[in-house]
Amino acid sequence: MKTLAPGSTIGILGGGQLGRMLGVAAAQLGYRCHIYAPNEDSVAAETAAQFTCAQDDDIESLTRFVEGCDVVTFEFENVPVDPLHQIENCAPLHPPIAALDVAQNRIAEKNFARDHGGTTAPFAAVTDRASLDSAIAEIGAPAILKTIRMGYDGKGQSRIKPGDALDAHWEAVAHQPCVAEGFVTFDHEFSVLLVRGQDGEIRFWDTPHNVHEDGILAISTAPAPAEILAQQDAARALAAKMADAMHYVGVLTCEFFATADGPVFNEMAPRVHNSGHWTIEGAITSQFENHIRAICGLPLGDTGLAAKKVEMHNLIGSQADDWQTLLSDGTNGLHLYGKGESRPGRKMGHVTKLHF
Ligand code: AMP
Repeated sequence: MKTLAPGSTIGILGGGQLGRMLGVAAAQLGYRCHIYAPNEDSVAAETAAQFTCAQDDDIESLTRFVEGCDVVTFEFENVPVDPLHQIENCAPLHPPIAALDVAQNRIAEKNFARDHGGTTAPFAAVTDRASLDSAIAEIGAPAILKTIRMGYDGKGQSRIKPGDALDAHWEAVAHQPCVAEGFVTFDHEFSVLLVRGQDGEIRFWDTPHNVHEDGILAISTAPAPAEILAQQDAARALAAKMADAMHYVGVLTCEFFATADGPVFNEMAPRVHNSGHWTIEGAITSQFENHIRAICGLPLGDTGLAAKKVEMHNLIGSQADDWQTLLSDGTNGLHLYGKGESRPGRKMGHVTKLHF
């Protein structure tokens, strides 16, 4: 295990709020961050020591960036993998590229979970209009059509009701290769948040209970209700097996549905995750700090709860305009991401509340 001393430079691929919060955690431990992102208006660059604005497939810029870093990580799982293979020997890259390969493809992800003993929704690949018919004939409706790549926060998805004509759904996903998933009847949604160190040690945070609105995370609460806690061991065992198989280093998030038949794996994020933002105030060590600790080869911090109950609300679109009201309650932990324009569905910030 190679320990990087404070003062070293951490490269972060991606320029959004996750990079911003990683940068804050890294700075607290004395590291410098260098952000690499394709857009000038990066909210992560605002809290970092250095910023390179260049495209992900610009090998020259990417090489120069990586050569100037002591370790490289990412805050966005859709970083193109091919350019990364070209620079992977220039600096350590954590989590591994193998985790991106799995997480960037919804079918590979579900097969990977099944191969490690997990249960997923029934699914079928959709490559063209005709295979959409056969997929729905096979798995039935209701179903959800999701693009295999690049979908997040409910984007690139179309919900199919029984009896729907399928043409409109095929249009809705812009004729992209998709997976058709059977609709899972669930009681709750939750995620397993873990950090894995370079020596293979795994620590879990308390399991958050997640509530989504319009396909976007709205609220995470820990500890989770008993129905979720009853499924926690099985879900954690699957997540740990997958992390070990990938020789994973850093924070890994796996999302699950709690069903009458046990946990059903939905998807994984090979990075810090929105359902772990509550750990900034609500855990002894946040997901951001432990990610930095893991990739730098430091001892992992305690993941225990810092209060009896913790609640995180996302501030989506204009909800962040209420910042003054939110601040007037001195027990609110307010985080604003510095994004100028509040568009509907855009994550602008979050607020965390601890109950003692
Ligand atoms: P995803 O982009 O896969 O995380 O989907 C966003 C949200 O849509 C999930 O958090 C669920 O609330 C819902 N969802 C996704 N897939 C399914 C499914 N197969 N069955 C029921 N609900 C789903």
